Amino acid sequence: MIDLHCHILPGVDDGAEDLSASIRMAKEAVRQGIHTIVATPHHLNNQYENPKQTVIERVAELNQALVKEKIDLKILPGQETRIYGELVEGFESGEILAVNESQYVLVEFSSSHVPRYTEKLFYDLQMQGLIPVIVHPERNQQIIEQPEILYQLVKKGALTQVTAASVFGGFGKKIKGFTLQLIEANLTHFIASDAHNTTNRTFMMSDAFGVIQEKYGNEMVYLFEENAALVIEGSRVYKEVPERIKKKKFFKIF
Ligand code: FE
Repeated sequence: MIDLHCHILPGVDDGAEDLSASIRMAKEAVRQGIHTIVATPHHLNNQYENPKQTVIERVAELNQALVKEKIDLKILPGQETRIYGELVEGFESGEILAVNESQYVLVEFSSSHVPRYTEKLFYDLQMQGLIPVIVHPERNQQIIEQPEILYQLVKKGALTQVTAASVFGGFGKKIKGFTLQLIEANLTHFIASDAHNTTNRTFMMSDAFGVIQEKYGNEMVYLFEENAALVIEGSRVYKEVPERIKKKKFFKIF
């Protein structure tokens, strides 16, 4: 398996605090069946700044450490960028790093809302040949309340990544239910761990794919796995026509 979103780099954000924590995460990832991880430290979220060049250097160091520890895991460079108005300029100036230097840029919203300028910004990104990938939309309050916002963004070319723990139920039943609705409505394209450690924010990738297989069969598992592989090689991913989520279904009171 490939994991597109993981805070495994040591000491750069709220993920692995030092190299030994990174090594623990690496061992757990291998145990889950992951062979490639895109390291995606936070950028411009709270106090964290991890511009492109820094990430590339840190990834090289971690790969060396993994070889030394004889852990069969490959780390690729990436970044989880908090949305901001000058994202296109940030890319042009060499600060923003797409997944493995492809055209796919992981974009994070705050947990509460989606900025009004998002649609325009995503349009501008795509005009530059970049494809925004919205990370964990299932955990954004405004998207939960108004899934139409996500539908419109996906319809206009954005991709999305749900978190493995959300699929498995690690963030509660409500988030799990909404995540499955996103999958069923073709509103998500990737499953990734967003792991920060090996305790309360761990990988849960094999657990999530267990749920996917049970509910939707092997074909869906294959689709998500294949999409992750296509992203890291910079190829076009599989997309089905997105559908609207019927809000009342999700908020129905029993
Ligand atoms: Fe993250």
